[in-house]
Amino acid sequence: MSNMQLQAHQQSLDDPKGFWLKHALELVDWAAKPTAATDSPPENALHSAQWFPDGKLNACYNAVDRHIAERGDQIALIYDSPVSDTVRRFTYSELLREVKGVASMLRRHGVRRGDTVLLYMAMVPQTLFAMLACARIGAIHSVVFGGFAPAELAKRIRDCRPKVVLSNTCGLESKTKIVPYKPLLDKAFELADYRPSATIILQREQLRVRLDPANAEYYWDTELVEAASDADAIECEVVDSNHPLYMIYTSGTTGMPKGIVRPSGPHVVALLYAQRYMYGLQPGETMFTFSDFGWQLGHSYCAYGPLLNGSRTVLFEGKPIGTPDAGQLYRVFSEHDVRVFLCAPTVVVVLRRADPEGLFRAKYDLTHMRGLFLAGERLTPEIHRWWIATITGRAAPADEDTIACGEEVSCVVSDNWWQTESGSPMTGICIGHSTNGGHIARIKYGSAGLMMPGCDLRVVRVKDDLDEDQGVDGNPELADADEVGNIVAKLPLPPGFLTSLWNDDQRFFDAYFKRYPGYYDTGDTGMIDSEGYVHILSRTDDVIKVAAHRLSTSSIEEVIFNHQDIAECCVVSRPCEIKGRVPMVFAALHSGAQAARIKQIKLEIVQLARTRVGPIVSLYAENIVFVDRLPKTRSGKILRKMMRTMIDTVHEDVKQGRLSSVDNCPVGTPATIEDAAVKADIWKTIIDTIGKLK
Ligand code: AMP
Repeated sequence: MSNMQLQAHQQSLDDPKGFWLKHALELVDWAAKPTAATDSPPENALHSAQWFPDGKLNACYNAVDRHIAERGDQIALIYDSPVSDTVRRFTYSELLREVKGVASMLRRHGVRRGDTVLLYMAMVPQTLFAMLACARIGAIHSVVFGGFAPAELAKRIRDCRPKVVLSNTCGLESKTKIVPYKPLLDKAFELADYRPSATIILQREQLRVRLDPANAEYYWDTELVEAASDADAIECEVVDSNHPLYMIYTSGTTGMPKGIVRPSGPHVVALLYAQRYMYGLQPGETMFTFSDFGWQLGHSYCAYGPLLNGSRTVLFEGKPIGTPDAGQLYRVFSEHDVRVFLCAPTVVVVLRRADPEGLFRAKYDLTHMRGLFLAGERLTPEIHRWWIATITGRAAPADEDTIACGEEVSCVVSDNWWQTESGSPMTGICIGHSTNGGHIARIKYGSAGLMMPGCDLRVVRVKDDLDEDQGVDGNPELADADEVGNIVAKLPLPPGFLTSLWNDDQRFFDAYFKRYPGYYDTGDTGMIDSEGYVHILSRTDDVIKVAAHRLSTSSIEEVIFNHQDIAECCVVSRPCEIKGRVPMVFAALHSGAQAARIKQIKLEIVQLARTRVGPIVSLYAENIVFVDRLPKTRSGKILRKMMRTMIDTVHEDVKQGRLSSVDNCPVGTPATIEDAAVKADIWKTIIDTIGKLK
């Protein structure tokens, strides 16, 4: 049967303007309909193309108000929190009331169109109300993941200078483990040397704190009551299509996070397109995206996507295991009639470890589920097969089999490739083109699926002389099918991608468009096979994915440099069975450092990283190695890529039961190396640390 995803993709490349204008008009309620799909930037500035330039809309109107007439009494949001023993449901009408309340509260504190509002909050319904409230009044929200330590939070505060900060008293790791937020916030303000005009804090019953009005600190509930009389009148502010809906910080190759600027109209179009065709979710049905609001997945498919579609979203405050058991996700699937589930592969890895036989799964009938999608890191064939078998109760089909065929689409499990920059999937297997499973493309294990419309992905050959120094490749050579190289997207980008970096247009250009003129550089390595399936292998730059969280190695290095005994250091990553990758530190000590304190220094470094970056850093003492010298180029740059390749080579040897040879390092010697002897030393150190010696 014809592959409708490939057809749609082809149409989107043959006639991008016609394709996207048609979907934009069909999927979105515009206050002023766009008359054109894009503006016409010059050939050499295609990266600045804007979608639907004369359209006007409001994202909150599309996510909430427009559903009231038809489904005001239907459930929009289900808050399921095993850590606070709560399940609460909100209809669309109730959601509208809550959103208007917060919008009125923000207005009273002077927030206007274009102002920034920073949210440092847990997975509670008020976080979602606040995001939508900002959208309603044209303010730009920036949600920061609650697991970030004050120093990281401070960087974001300093960059976006929020008019108002919204927070809550605590996050809940479990019923008994409470993480107080207020001290973290106070410390961040101090480090940033910045105070917003108001900090409004939600008291949670697990932790109440006293606020100081002299410091412009306000109690959320009191503010809501005071704002209530004006709330009803808070209408949606009509904004230009390219007005930023929000910005979200993500790690880049430097210690300074990138503030991804997301345009309103194009994002709404892209989310609705993926909602309908990739995820196949109908209005009134339930989607569960297991991701914190602080991440892109949480923005796109826990907050906005399902609501824009008139569907239900599940907000889960808990963990895959331990809150209290490995059965919670299956319970949520069953109790809330979840049709589509989206999470990172690390969630499945953790579940498999805790309950390999799927004993918790066996308690529920999950035949109603239609699609289970994984994003954020590579889905390995082993985990993919286990998840298929666990969810469907049948053995996973052999490679290359059609997973879904027949009249009904049920329990399709597939990989999605995303970036914060894209805001929605760039590849995957669409299950929504029809209700007939025969229209779904084959799933290949190890591949992230086929391209989404508008994503014109190519693979370019890696040229040795460009490897370590991020130069410009003015004449990119395209790789053959199945050949591994750097994955790029031909410009213009489809609707929904970032339109700039907050306050930094130059970095926007340098980070994504400079290296390969005419293309967007994804920073990922991989290949496209002869059938058009995209395979993502790893990052090409100094960004690592730890349990699907994106961290910059330089921000970890920055922290380690604060230790008084460290003269030099370099962070790369090593594979980890549970977390995908974890950081590994190679450091040189100051000459005065005492060898006897090595063990203690390692523990101090671990502690530094936890407190300055946050516990998500996952740095363990055994992954800290001291060396005399780090391998460098003649111009003084650390040869990180060479070290990464060495680590992966030794790891693969261990996996295959091979002994790595100290004398025969299979990793090439970069032409620019300053001293080849250092390469041999590092190779031996890596074998000593993670491999076996021959
Ligand atoms: P983030 O911006 O945090 O979503 O991180 C984006 C990066 O995560 C990508 O550039 C990839 O390196 C990685 N990534 C996301 N999804 C996948 C996937 N399905 N397969 C492999 N890598 C992925």
